[in-house]
Amino acid sequence: MKKPDGSAFGGKKFDIKKVIEWLGVVLKCPICGQKYTLNQSQVIESEHNDIIGEARILIHSDCAKCKSSVMFNIEIDGPEIFSVGMVTDLTSNDTSKFKNKTPISINEVIGIHTELKKFKGDFVEMFTVSQ
Ligand SMILES: [Zn+2]
Repeated sequence: MKKPDGSAFGGKKFDIKKVIEWLGVVLKCPICGQKYTLNQSQVIESEHNDIIGEARILIHSDCAKCKSSVMFNIEIDGPEIFSVGMVTDLTSNDTSKFKNKTPISINEVIGIHTELKKFKGDFVEMFTVSQ
């Protein structure tokens, strides 16, 4: 996406609120096409540099129509704006919770796999609190 005036914000100071407002107009649900309203979107993370005109914003949006959740990674580099949407089953709280966690390693996956192979019990029983 490119705006004709050469800068996404007309060379003015970066205003995160304006960006969010603008995104509210631009972003729509990739599943059903419903436009997001601002109160369904939450900024998970943002960083910006006014001097070089760069910014990165991570937004979580819930669709009012089809109830799917999407995370948008938006990168602003001078006059250019890139956005990548990703359908997720995380809620906005989950997203905040997991964003700084390290990824699961291969060894952890193998570990769980090995444990599950040995496991002969009953999951329902295991996760049920006995009275
Ligand atoms: Zn939708």
